[in-house]
Formats: sequence, C-alpha cells, structure tokens
Amino acid sequence: MFKSKELKSQKRTPTASVGASTAPGYPHRLNFYDLPPLFEVTLEDFEESAIDRLRILAEIESSYARNRSWDELKEVTEKLCKKYLPLHANATALGKINPLEERKRDHLGHFVLRLAFCRSEELRRRFVTTEKTLFRVRYEGELREEKMEFVNSLNFGWVKVDTNERSSFEAELKALEVKPPGLPRTDEQEGPRAQEYVKVHWTKVPDLVAKRRVFLRGGFAYVHSREVSSIVYHEFESALQKALEHTAKMLPRMDEDTRLVPLLNNLSQGFLAGIPSEWSGPPLAGDEIRADMIDDMAKKHFPLCMRNLHECLTRDRHLKHFGRLQYGLFLKVLGLSIDEAVLFWRKSFSNITDDKFNKEYKYNIRHSYGLEGKRANYPAKSCQQILTTDKPGVGDCHGCPYRHFSPENLQSSLLTHYSLQGLGTTDLHEIMRTVKDGHYHVACTRVFEITHASKGVKKGDGIGDGESVTHPNQYAARSIELEKEQSQEGTVMAVD
Ligand code: SF4
Repeated sequence: MFKSKELKSQKRTPTASVGASTAPGYPHRLNFYDLPPLFEVTLEDFEESAIDRLRILAEIESSYARNRSWDELKEVTEKLCKKYLPLHANATALGKINPLEERKRDHLGHFVLRLAFCRSEELRRRFVTTEKTLFRVRYEGELREEKMEFVNSLNFGWVKVDTNERSSFEAELKALEVKPPGLPRTDEQEGPRAQEYVKVHWTKVPDLVAKRRVFLRGGFAYVHSREVSSIVYHEFESALQKALEHTAKMLPRMDEDTRLVPLLNNLSQGFLAGIPSEWSGPPLAGDEIRADMIDDMAKKHFPLCMRNLHECLTRDRHLKHFGRLQYGLFLKVLGLSIDEAVLFWRKSFSNITDDKFNKEYKYNIRHSYGLEGKRANYPAKSCQQILTTDKPGVGDCHGCPYRHFSPENLQSSLLTHYSLQGLGTTDLHEIMRTVKDGHYHVACTRVFEITHASKGVKKGDGIGDGESVTHPNQYAARSIELEKEQSQEGTVMAVD
C-alpha cells in the first residue's frame, strides 16, 4: 500500500484553492481519506503518525466515557490536535508551516490505524465513532470559505431544490426553517447558501429523519442548507465503515510481516488505556528524592496501582518479582537515584539478612537502572502495559486495581486510600460505573480530579488540558507539580 510514488490526487475531484499550490494533492485540510497514501514512509513515520493520532482518538473515547458535553469534548480535542496533529487551514498556513507535510502525516496516520482497527467488529465500531468525531471537530472548526470549497468538491448526489418545487412545498419547507435548539452556530451556513434546500435519498440522513428535521417525499429527504453537515458526517461514516470491512478482508495477507504485525497489535490496544507520553526522566528537576520521602509521597501523590504496591511492601516487607519491577521502575523514573533505591529496598525488605539482599535483590535493582547485564535504560511501565501484560495471580500486588481488583476490593481500597483526600461514597458510584464499562484509566483520572479538587482541579480537567491518565508517572508528576504550584502561591501571598 505504501509505495514509493508521489500522491497524485484525491479520488474526489478537488477544487483549486490557495492551498493547492502549497500542498499539492491536498487542496483541503479536511480529508475523506478515499485513497491510501502512495508515498514512501519510514517505519518510524509509520508508527509515530499513528501513535499521535491514536492519542487524540483515545482521548475522544475517554471523553464519551466521561460524559463530556460536545463543547468540552471539542475543546479538549482541539487542544490535542494542536499538540500532536496540527493541521493548518490554507489561509493560516503561513511562514514556516508546511501544510503538505501536516496533511500527509494526517493521511498516513489515519491509514495505519485502519490497519490496526479493522480486525474486529468492536474495534471497527470504536474507530469509526472516534474518527467521525475527529472529523466533525475539524469540520466545525474549519473556516467558512474553505469548508464550502471542501463540501462543493464532494459528490454526494444531492440535488438543489428549484424554485418550482419550493413553491409546491412552501409550507413544509418553511417549517424546516425553525432552528432546532442547541444547533451549533457553525452549522448554520455551509454548502448551498443559507435558506436553500437540497434533496437526497432519505437513507443518507438517517439522523435527521429520526429527529424529524427533514421533509420526506417520494423517498427523498428535503434538507435545509444549515443541516448539510449531517449529510457530510453520514457519508464520512459510511465510507469509512465500508473501507474498514474491505481492509479487514485484505489484512490476512500481511500476517507474515514480522515488522508490522506486532506494531499493529500494540496500536489496537490504544483504546484500553490511551497512549502514554514518554516518561523517562525525573519530573522534579533539581529536587532530590530520598528513600525516606517515599512513604509520604505515596500517600499524597501516587496513583492507586502504586499505592497498593507500597502498602503491600510495607505490610509484607516483600514484593514478588513483577511487583518489584512495576514499583521499582516507577520510583526510578520518579527520580529516585540508584543509591537511594538500594537504601529504600533494603529498608523495606527488613525481614531478610544483608547477605540475602545483596545476593538476590541488589543485582536486579542495579540492573533496572542499567548498571548490570545489557545495561539498558528500562522505562517505567505505562497504564497500557500494566493493564494488558503480566496479569496478577493470587498473592501478587502488581497490576492496575481498577482492572484487576474485584468490585468490592476496589471500592474498599479507594475509600481506604483516598477518603482523606476528598473521595466519598457518593463518588464511588460514578467510578465503579466507569470501571464496569472497561474505562479503567478514565476511572483513575476521575479519582485524580476528585482528590486534587483542593488544588483547583475541576471535573473534566484530567491531569491537565483535559487529558486522561495514561501513565502512573504522569499522575504522580502532575500531583507533585500541583502541590508545588499551591505552595508557591502561598509563599507569594505571604510575601505580599
Ligand atoms: Fe495505575 Fe494507570 Fe491503573 Fe491508574 S489507570 S491505577 S495509573 S495503571
């Protein structure tokens, strides 16, 4: 699919525009993704473009799980798009911005994710829903002129209702002019001019038919110009649905490609816990974390998975292999130096002799810091890894409590660990419902919001800019950052 050829054109005939000269083959930033990318890509681009897109799609899915309003979802999505997948309009692609590169990356990421998400009915459904939402966010945010150019370049088979027909159905069409409450302002004028009507086969606008916002006659739906976006969204959705089914049939041919299949398998897990950012360095630049600080930090800043590990370690004076691995790498990335780590684990394993500790555990601690064996710098585990690998068995303390605890144990653990930070029994209902629906990291994000409300975090803020928790270190780092901000504010006020 990804051959070394330049992309010549989109399937739908583009209209000339300002951007046509700066982004050949991509006259609009909006894209129906009719054709696969036909340019050469590196394996790195292949993966990175998909990961960045998946960050956005995973957050869209989290937004639905968190019952965000459309405006909130849009705001969060736009912020993430700006950060991970900027896509400038023709009119704003000025200076150093290269719209061609942005649009090619958008195009590539979409198609890589098609490969990852076409393989089951469930994955296809989730991909179509989130892609359609991303398209809608971009479509609503598009400049009016460019949106009209884009819409006019698409061939949806709609027919403009002429004057004769308009006078025949004057009363019926007039009734459609009443703007339904809550319709976004940006949907008001696009496609054909405002106060005009188009007719399409009614199956192209099922949502408008269901909401009785069209006039039906002879199998056609008469649609007010302000509702044209519904046709566009429906076309986008049904074309993508069909394309995914087609890709699924073709995919078995790729099964022998040992480079791509593991990558695609990994990507398809992205909806489970979002896509983590890299957490490889200490979040507290300049602040040393000592072994004797961990107990206090765990109570104030750690997510439930790490609090649970800390509790088990304190209680049993021991942790099994996967628990040590999960907690040890987390502490390393938090900023615990190797010397302090050895001290911490030595003190924690207080039931064993120095000799046993040095022989059986010290090597592994040094190994995880890249000082032994193949000297690799191991990263801390992300939520996705904790949720999907090394499932804990009886007596194990690692894993994610939101996924691996029974509902009763989870509820009692939440109250034990977080009631002093503001989590009450009334919050449990919402958290347990999210867990039941399989949105574990969304439940964790909600707990973060509740337990940091005293530091100004509101519902929907997530760990910053509305983002959900995707990594335990990100959770802890943000919690520490909030505490610092609060104490700095306190200092400034005291000086004033
Ligand atoms: Fe830990 Fe992530 Fe689970 Fe939260 S969602 S408890 S950070 S693994």
